[in-house]
This record gives sequence, C-alpha cells and structure tokens, in this order.
Amino acid sequence: MRCAAGWPAVELKLGTPGRWIDYDYEHEHEHEREREDDNGDSMKNAETSFPARWWRVQEDGRIECELCPRRCRLREGQRGFCFVRQNEGGRLVLTTYGRSSGFCIDPIEKKPLNQFYPGSAVLSFGTAGCNLGCRFCQNWDISKARQMDRLADQASPEAIARAAQERGCRSVAFTYNDPVIFAEYALDTAAACHELGVKTVAVTAGYIEPPARAEFFAGMDAANVDLKAFTEEFYKEQCFAELAPVLETLEFIHRETSTWMEITTLLIPGLNDSEAELHRLTEWVAERLGPDVPLHFTAFHPDFKVTELPPTPAAKLQQARRIGLGKGLHYVYTGNVHDPEGANTYCPKCGKVVIERNWYDLGAYHIRDGKCEFCGQTIAGRFGEGAESWGTRMTPVRMS
Ligand code: SF4
Repeated sequence: MRCAAGWPAVELKLGTPGRWIDYDYEHEHEHEREREDDNGDSMKNAETSFPARWWRVQEDGRIECELCPRRCRLREGQRGFCFVRQNEGGRLVLTTYGRSSGFCIDPIEKKPLNQFYPGSAVLSFGTAGCNLGCRFCQNWDISKARQMDRLADQASPEAIARAAQERGCRSVAFTYNDPVIFAEYALDTAAACHELGVKTVAVTAGYIEPPARAEFFAGMDAANVDLKAFTEEFYKEQCFAELAPVLETLEFIHRETSTWMEITTLLIPGLNDSEAELHRLTEWVAERLGPDVPLHFTAFHPDFKVTELPPTPAAKLQQARRIGLGKGLHYVYTGNVHDPEGANTYCPKCGKVVIERNWYDLGAYHIRDGKCEFCGQTIAGRFGEGAESWGTRMTPVRMS
C-alpha cells in the first residue's frame, strides 16, 4: 500500500505488545497530504541524510528501528511512522538533522517546568514529525509536518549552544515536536550546550526504547514528560501508542537518572478526565514516583482531529489538582488557564507561597539555597541564587 504522496505504508506495532498491523497512511494523513500537494517539491531540498543510531538489519533485509516502541520495519526507501527516519540504501538515516521549524526564546514556565531555574529564558526549537499520532495534537502543524520546507531554519549543535549562551539563556529545550525522533541531533546539541555550561531540556511523550532511553536522558538536565492519560485504551485509540512504555520511562527517569522531571497531563473532556482515572493516575504518581515530582494538569483546546469537544473548564483542572494533592503530591499545578492558586508553588511543610505566578510572570519568590525562606523545608527542583527575570516574552530567533 502506498499513500498518494508516494510514501509506502510501513508495518507498525500497535496495541497489544507483539502485534503488528498495517497502519493506514491514506486515512490518517489526509491533512498532511493536502498540505504537501501545495508544495511537494520543496521536501527533498530541505532534507539531510544523517546516519541514524539504534537500528538493526533483519533476516529479510528490512531495517528495524529500535529507537521507539513502534519498532518500524522498513524496506529500502521506506520511512517510519515518525516520517523522519528512513531506510536509505540499507542504512537508517535521520532526515531532519540540523534543520528546525524555528527557534524562540521562551520562559521556562512555558515548557512547563515550574521548578527548574524559575524565571529563566530557554532557547526552544523543534524539527518535524512525531512518533505518536495524537488525534488532539496541539502542535500538529509541526508534529505532523511532511512538508519539509516548514524546517525553515538550520543550525549546527555548536551554533545553537553559542546562541543560547550569547542571549543569556539558562537552557536549550528540544520541544514543539518530540525530540526522541531526532535524538542524534538533540544529543549532539546537548553535548555542545554542556561544553558552554548551558542546560538542556526535553519536552517529550517518553515513548522510547530502553537502550536509547538511557543515552537520551543522560544528556538531559530536565524533562517534561507527557502522561497523556492513564488507560491503554486512550493511548491506543487517541495516540496510536501504548501507555506501558511511557510509565516505564517515568520510573526510569525518576530512579535511574539525575534528570529533573515534571509531568504534564492534558485533560480532554470526556476522554481522560473522569474522577476515577484522575484518582488512579495521581495515586500511581505518588506511589511510584513519590510526592516531589511536579504534576501539571493543563487545559485542552479543540484542535487537529478533535474539534467536536469543548475546551477543558478551569473547574475540572482545579478538581484534578485537589485529587492530586489529596494523594499526597506536593506540587500539583493547573495550566493553560488563569488560575493563580493553581499556578503558585507552595512549601509542602508550612504551606506558604514560595513562588508566586501570574501566567508566566513571577511575583514573590521565597526560596533560598533550595529551601523555603519561611520554614527551611527543602523545595524539590533545581534553583539558582534567586528567581531569574526573563518574564513573559517569547522572542523568535533566526539562526541562518
Ligand atoms: S523512531 Fe520513528 S522510525 Fe523509529 S520506531 Fe519510532 S516511529 Fe518508527
């Protein structure tokens, strides 16, 4: 089976572990094909063929990509589900190394990371493609992009690190689309950043296989991991993926790495926001990751293929926050809505506000040497000498 744009269907593992099915590219990628038709010729010009890692050749000659749990098996010329990894002449290549959909300096709270150098600036970028197929994707113009001319900017890892340092960014974030699929580029950039004392941040769904996972997070100082729901049914039907590998990644980061981790769950009305599911999710986080991993409940806005549902009411986010706090979690936030109570960081011992927020703007700040200024309790996270003052600005940066 081939899709109209000429890309062959690939064999994908979905749902029950070990079960392989054909993925219907024709049906699932109508949006992308429409956009490709506008300017299909631009694609090849914007691509690179960087040698990829984490793959092996199967007995039948196909390449199996071992980067993420999909384990795409690719014949000559075929691309994986993520679209950016391809069997080219019997080797796997990454077609987006060095290319970006754009660079922007954001507040770190936008990732969201509330307890990683609060108030600091982060140079953010993404590429194209994604290894999940979320029907509700809030960044679908990038994550589902097939039109590689969306990769309007290009930069070497060293240039990105220098740009971050010169502009006073505390960190560089791999975001907008999932950095797992451009892990080679992200890790080279992370190494260049660390040479210059710049931190690194991954914003990811955590859908990655164990060997790559260990290397990937070893290069990341912080991560915000999406926990999209707490049922296999949701992951299968809404994301074409599985929940179990994501839970493994969360436990791995918590137990085996020094990466600072926060979790985000986008609450979608009627799909993943039942009281019972919220109880199960927050209980799992408290039991398996402990009380100090921050959890963000953020509001959904109708987008991509889920346009029939309403935006998440603030009251639902506040209810989820209360449930999380009730399970003993110390840091539970609401996001994408104006809710100062759910945006602040509170000391888990004395209950006072230690970081006050109004959207991404910081107000009062009462953490010194990583401790609450009122009672001396340690506040989990990574903190500098005080709050930094980037503010709410989002400043595009042109690299080339
Ligand atoms: S990273 Fe891409 S090519 Fe590799 S298994 Fe995952 S979806 Fe397939």
